[in-house]
Amino acid sequence: MQGKIALEEHFTIAGTLMEHLVDQTWQSRQELEERLVELDGPRLAAMDESGIDVAALSLTCPGAQGEVDADRAVAFASRVNDHLASALERHPERYVGFATIQLQDLSRAVDELDRCINRLGFRGVLLNGFTSTAEPETGRYYDHRDFDPFWAAVQELRAPVYLHPRLPLPAQMQAYADYPEMAGALWGFSVETATHALRLILGGVFERFPGVSVLLGHLGENLPFAIGRAAHRFARKPLGNELSKPLDEYFHQNFYATTSGFPSANALQATIAGMGADHVLFATDYPYESMPEAAKWFDTVELDEDVRTQIGRNNAERLLGL
Ligand code: ZN
Repeated sequence: MQGKIALEEHFTIAGTLMEHLVDQTWQSRQELEERLVELDGPRLAAMDESGIDVAALSLTCPGAQGEVDADRAVAFASRVNDHLASALERHPERYVGFATIQLQDLSRAVDELDRCINRLGFRGVLLNGFTSTAEPETGRYYDHRDFDPFWAAVQELRAPVYLHPRLPLPAQMQAYADYPEMAGALWGFSVETATHALRLILGGVFERFPGVSVLLGHLGENLPFAIGRAAHRFARKPLGNELSKPLDEYFHQNFYATTSGFPSANALQATIAGMGADHVLFATDYPYESMPEAAKWFDTVELDEDVRTQIGRNNAERLLGL
C-alpha cells in the first residue's frame, strides 16, 4: 500500500542515547544511534521504499520521563522539541511531530505542550511510561490526580497521547530474574504499559476527561484481548472503586492501538475485532524494527483493502487532524 502514515517512529539527539536501549535491538550501538539521530537521508529513503508518506516522529525512551530533576527535564524537553520542529520545517510533507513533555513540573509541562501544539504544529504527545523520581524504586504513574492539569490540557488541545513502553521499576524486575531478555520488548514492556493503561482507566482519567485519546503500540500491549476479563472481574468485584461505566467501554472509546513491532496476522485480526478497525493504526517502531519489513508485512497481511487503507492511513489522518 502506498501513502501509509506511520505512528511510532523514533529519533534522538546525538549524545543522549541511553545504554539500555542497545539491548533492545539487533543492531550495534553505533548503527542504532545513527539511525535514531539521522532525519534527512536514509530514513526518508526507507520511507519511500516502504510506501510510507508520513512518519509521526517521537523521542526514544525513556526521554524526559527518565530525568529526575525538573529543571533539567524542562530544558531537555524544550531542546528536543526545537530539534524536532526544525526537522518538520525541513520536511513538512514527510514528518509530523509528537511532543516530548516532562511531567515533573505540571505547570511548565502544560506551557510546553501548548507551545508544541499551537506554535510548533505538533500533532500529539508521546510519554515514555512513568516519570522517574529521585527514589529509583518509585515511578509516578499518570492516573494520580496531580496529573489532571496535563489531561485537561491534552483534552482541550485535542492532542492524542501515545503511551510508550519503558523498562519496569527495579522491584518488578525480580519477576524477570535470570531472563534479562524478558524484561524489555519480549514481554516486560507490554506488561508495564498495559498496567499503566489500566491504571488510567481505574483511576478515572477518562471519567474526568472523556475527550482524551490514548495510543498504545504493539497492537494495544495485549489489552484488546485482556480487557474483557478485566471488565468482567471489575463488574463482579470493584473493591470500592466507583466508575460509572464498564472498564471495556473506556478502553473502546478512549484507546487506539498501533501495529508497531507485532507482525502477527492472528493478533492483528483479534485487535481489529477487539477495538474496531477505526481504532487501529499502522506503525513500524523504527529503528528498533526494520521499516521495510514492517511495511511489507502490513501490505501483504490478509485484510480487506478498505480496512488496510483505514489502518494504513485514514485513521491517522482523522486522529492527528492531517
Ligand atoms: Zn517504540
